[in-house]
Amino acid sequence: AAKAAGRDQVVSYDTQLRTRHLAQARMVDRLRDALEHDQLSVFYQPVVDLASDRWVTVEALARWETEEWSVSPDQFIPAAEDSGLIVSLGTFVLRQACRDAVVWHREHGTRLAVNVSVHQLREPDFANTIRSALTDSGLPPRALSLEITESVLVGAGTQRAQVIAHLTELREAGVLVAIDDFGTGFSSLAYLQTLPIDTIKIDRAFVPYGEAYDRRQFALVRAIVQLARGLRLGTVVEGVETPQQARILRLLGCDLGQGYYYSKPVPAAEISASLEFA
Ligand code: C2E
Ligand code: MG
Ligand code: MG
Ligand code: MG
Repeated sequence: AAKAAGRDQVVSYDTQLRTRHLAQARMVDRLRDALEHDQLSVFYQPVVDLASDRWVTVEALARWETEEWSVSPDQFIPAAEDSGLIVSLGTFVLRQACRDAVVWHREHGTRLAVNVSVHQLREPDFANTIRSALTDSGLPPRALSLEITESVLVGAGTQRAQVIAHLTELREAGVLVAIDDFGTGFSSLAYLQTLPIDTIKIDRAFVPYGEAYDRRQFALVRAIVQLARGLRLGTVVEGVETPQQARILRLLGCDLGQGYYYSKPVPAAEISASLEFA
C-alpha cells in the first residue's frame, strides 16, 4: 500500500508539473496574441523628490488588463522572459512610454524610467531600438533612464561584454542607467566599480516597516545611501507606503522615493492631469 501511495504521489506531482507547464504555455500563447492585438497597456508611477514632493520621474509599467480581468506583471513578465516575448513586449512599452512622456518632459521636466530585461540587452540592435524610440518620439536621451535588475547585470554570462557595451554606448548618448531591486540579488558589490550606472534603486525589502522600526534596517539603508554617495550615484527607494516611511527615508539620506504613499501606477491621462494641476 505504501508503494502504491508513493507512486500516486509521484504521478500527482508529475501531473502538477505538467499542469503548470500547460498553464504557462497557454499564458504565453495568450500574451503573444495580446501583443499582436494591442491589448497591453502602459501605466506610470511617479518617483518623487523626498524633500520637496516634486515628481521628478515616472516609471513605465506594463499592464495586461480589461474591465473584467487582469493578469499581474509578476505572472506575465516571467512568462514573457522565459518565452523571449519580453523583447517585443519591452519594445512596445518603450515606444509607447516615450510617446507619452515627451509632453510631460517638455512641459514639466519629468523624466521617464523604463524597465529593461537582459534578453533585450543581449539583442545586437538594442542600442538602435532605444535610439529610434527616442528619435521617433522626440524625447531627449537625458530624459530616459533604463532600469535593469541587479541579478540580470551580474548574471549576464557570456554576453556580459555585449551588455556593458550597449549600456556604455547609450550612456555616452546621455541615457541614464539604474540598478533596480538593489540589495536582493545576492551579488558581490565589486560590480559597482565596473558597471556603467547612475542610480541605485533600493528594493522595498529595506524600507522600515511596522510600528517598531528596526535599527538594523536603518543601518542597512544608511549604509547603502553612503555607498551610493561615495560612488556618486543617486538613490531611489521603492515601496514608500506611509508618510512616516517617507520622513525616515529622507532623514536616512535617500534622494527619491516611489510607492503607494505618493501614487500607485496609473494610466497616462492621470499623470497628465496630476502634472497639470500640481
Ligand atoms: P519594478 O520595476 O521593481 O517595479 C516596481 C513594482 O512595485 C511595481 O509592480 C509597482 O506597482 C510596485 N509598487 C510600487 N509601489 C509600491 C508600494 O508602495 N508597495 C508595494 N507593495 N508595491 C509597490 P508591478 O507593476 O506589478 O511590476 C512588477 C515588476 O514587473 C516590476 O518591478 C518589473 O520588474 C517588472 N515589469 C513591469 N513592467 C515591465 C516592463 O515593461 N518590462 C520589464 N522587463 N519588466 C517589467
Ligand atoms: Mg523598475
Ligand atoms: Mg524595482
Ligand atoms: Mg521590484
